[in-house]
Amino acid sequence: MTFCNKDNLAVCAKISITMIRGRELAIFRKQLLDWFRQFRRDLPWRHARDPYHIWLSEIMLQQTRVAAVIPYYERFLGRFPSIQALAAARQEEILRMWSGLGYYSRARNLQKAAQQIVAKHGGDFPSEMQEALALPGIGNYTAAAILSIAFEKKHAVLDGNVARVLARLGAVRGDLRESLRWKHLQQSADAYLDPESPGDWNQAMMELGATLCTPKSPQCLLCPVAQFCQGRKLGIAETLPEARKKRETVQIRLAAAVFTDENGRTLLLPPHDDRDKVSPADDMPRLASNLWHFPTILVNGNPTTKLRSYLRNHFEYTHNGNLRVVAKGKIRHTVTYRAVSVEPFRIHVKELPRIGGAKCVPLQEITVLPVSNLTRKVAQAALVAASVSTRKHGE
Ligand code: SF4
Repeated sequence: MTFCNKDNLAVCAKISITMIRGRELAIFRKQLLDWFRQFRRDLPWRHARDPYHIWLSEIMLQQTRVAAVIPYYERFLGRFPSIQALAAARQEEILRMWSGLGYYSRARNLQKAAQQIVAKHGGDFPSEMQEALALPGIGNYTAAAILSIAFEKKHAVLDGNVARVLARLGAVRGDLRESLRWKHLQQSADAYLDPESPGDWNQAMMELGATLCTPKSPQCLLCPVAQFCQGRKLGIAETLPEARKKRETVQIRLAAAVFTDENGRTLLLPPHDDRDKVSPADDMPRLASNLWHFPTILVNGNPTTKLRSYLRNHFEYTHNGNLRVVAKGKIRHTVTYRAVSVEPFRIHVKELPRIGGAKCVPLQEITVLPVSNLTRKVAQAALVAASVSTRKHGE
């Protein structure tokens, strides 16, 4: 391995990967490729080798399960069938099509990259690594996946799935994300890549990780390359990769104001990206404000007092002194290491406050705008609260 030098020799000595070489490597490649070609799942992005389709699927699949991605992928491609169509679309429309998938910066970067591709590459996805890496939202893994599958370029992919397979095959212990260990894994991925079929090879490694060599209970009896697996031979496959140190969970408390007028309409504030169009009323923590959202604040003490003061300061109608704030339970939402709890407050008003950049939409139909799952949950809670209150008054 070439990453070891006199400065990191001690760390290097702790990293050991058993490699498959020579004639065994040829058999290993053949068995894995044969298995993939026979048993691969029929996924919509595998029907063609269009770089746009592969790119879109790879971006959607980040942090998201295949089954959840498929309907989004098909709808998105139906609406934006080409890089040109994506580049020319309104961002609000793109976010609406992405709504519910989460991690919305992916959608924004997708469009920025599409615009760069149109401006610099005549609308064709670039086939060279450096040009692909220069596009927003495209890192080593995504670039290697697109270039190998669409153009048969010899770049090996390495993500968490593939790293797990490599760690088991080579009986690699320790934290795989540690920089030097990750570099060693990349080197072994490069060494195994089939130069004749890099696209299928990368997909075969991903497929093995997704279907048989899964995080829990790998199905070694069905594995096409079990005879080469050191982790299995040593009886440690299930313990690999070793657990990483977990980042401590950060608790975040929010209070959201759900205004409703007599026509059942509510007020939503725009995403922070549109900040220049937004009034100072937008005090939403960035974590939950990258799409349309209810006026929301961070709280650490009494949420009612803090929300009253926030509304008094930002919404002029509150000066009438009749502000009624009613808490209707908490909503929980997890974003990576952050555990978010939101207390929705329903506020009935004759007329919704006028706030620059804000929009008034029916509370039942907030998804006409791009909103996050968190905002949907808040709206749902407010609707349930309203129907309970209506029933009580009707009794
Ligand atoms: Fe993974 Fe088991 Fe195959 Fe080894 S034998 S690569 S642990 S499925």
